[in-house]
Amino acid sequence: MSRYWNGSTRSIKPYVPGEQPPAGADLIKINTNENPYPPSPKVLEEIAHEIGTDGHRLRLYPNTDAAPVIEAVCKLYNLTRDQVFVGNGSDEVLAFAFRAFWDAERPILTPEISYSFYPVYAALFDTPNTTIPMREDLSIDVNSFVSGRGGVVIANPNAPTSLALPLADIRKILEAHPDDVVLIDEAYVDFGGETAISLIDEFPNLLVVRTLSKSYSLAGLRVGYAVGSPELIDGINRIKNSFNSYSVDRIAMAAGAAALLDTDYFKDTTDRIISTRERTAVSLKEMGFNVLPSGTNFLFASHPKHSAAEMFEHLKKRGILVRYFAAPNIANYLRISIGTDPEMDQLISVLGEMM
Ligand SMILES: *Cc1c(COP(=O)(O)O)cnc(C)c1O
Repeated sequence: MSRYWNGSTRSIKPYVPGEQPPAGADLIKINTNENPYPPSPKVLEEIAHEIGTDGHRLRLYPNTDAAPVIEAVCKLYNLTRDQVFVGNGSDEVLAFAFRAFWDAERPILTPEISYSFYPVYAALFDTPNTTIPMREDLSIDVNSFVSGRGGVVIANPNAPTSLALPLADIRKILEAHPDDVVLIDEAYVDFGGETAISLIDEFPNLLVVRTLSKSYSLAGLRVGYAVGSPELIDGINRIKNSFNSYSVDRIAMAAGAAALLDTDYFKDTTDRIISTRERTAVSLKEMGFNVLPSGTNFLFASHPKHSAAEMFEHLKKRGILVRYFAAPNIANYLRISIGTDPEMDQLISVLGEMM
């Protein structure tokens, strides 16, 4: 506490990200859902090109809209430029969207168990947030989102549960909230979800938020985007241009566009992660774990005989960093990001010693 802080700085409970150990630490880091593979080689070429031989381009401010990334997204999903917003990681895109669409008079509904940044943004922007309890199986209770009132924020597939909702359920929620923005956070959709981008033309209240941090291996460069009707994109731009005109830097922009356009590399690494995930889920089940069906690059798993806290500590001692959440209903689940095959073999062998 400082006497210089205003009321909101005093009362806010900031988001706590997963542990980021110092570079060079000899750890298997499967705690923050990063991609175990490096980005496409084209990304490195484009970064080198952007820097050039003497870095003279870095003198200049970047394009304010991150146009190269917008163009790549348009090409991938057959969209027009006024349907896409690009930001400094999807966390920034989410923050701008919260600020643009909700406030004390425009409350939101979120799942009780979901990305823990949502309640932080809601509090920061004075937005009442009603949390909808999960169903018994930890899935999102679609009916309560249909009957509830207000804007909607859902991660699909959800984190940390890894469970995906079918597009038909997203459609039901959109139809029930014609006067409110429905934000679908698709951070993990490339690993097994159904994207709602196909519904953009039909629903002007739909905003789909994506990130290049997970499926494109660019967590270190911070690129995220939103897709929606021109009126929603325009609203987000009004907020962005009131905070920071140049939120995406030149290097991130060049890298992001190159990553999106190398579809072969993307498919190859994504398929590898999915097959490693399935193989790992089988091994965990053989050890008696309950493993939720995952549409993401992580597994959410509990064991009837060992607490998550106990397993977390044991793994950490053996140099493997995973995550668990001290929250009701999920305190006994480990969230395990999918690493390389050898990393997952090591995880299985260390857990095996414990069992
Ligand atoms: C990782 C994650 C984000 C944040 O992604 P960045 O683009 O790295 O900011 C947003 N939403 C969910 C659900 C995530 O898991």
